[in-house]
Amino acid sequence: MKNWKCNTCDGYIRVDLSKIIEGDRVFFVKNNNIPGDDVIFEKGTVVGVGKESNFYNVVSEKKYSKKVYKVDSKLIYPLHAPAPIVYNMFWVCECC
Ligand SMILES: [Zn+2]
Repeated sequence: MKNWKCNTCDGYIRVDLSKIIEGDRVFFVKNNNIPGDDVIFEKGTVVGVGKESNFYNVVSEKKYSKKVYKVDSKLIYPLHAPAPIVYNMFWVCECC
């Protein structure tokens, strides 16, 4: 598991989505293009990364579901990364 705290300044290191690679576990939204549908985050594993990291192919971890979803990079978040609220509450690293 990645260390999300900077050793130099003790701040939280920002999530860099371009560093998501195959095999990473993520939260993703699979149905955000259906109007009126609630946005539901699901856990999944990245099995493919699109050109310039603008989308990811993600397999849902839901039981019995082995479907691969093509997910926009705006709708994906590393599973073990601090939630966005953490960055609002604590020091954010600016040195690395
Ligand atoms: Zn730092």
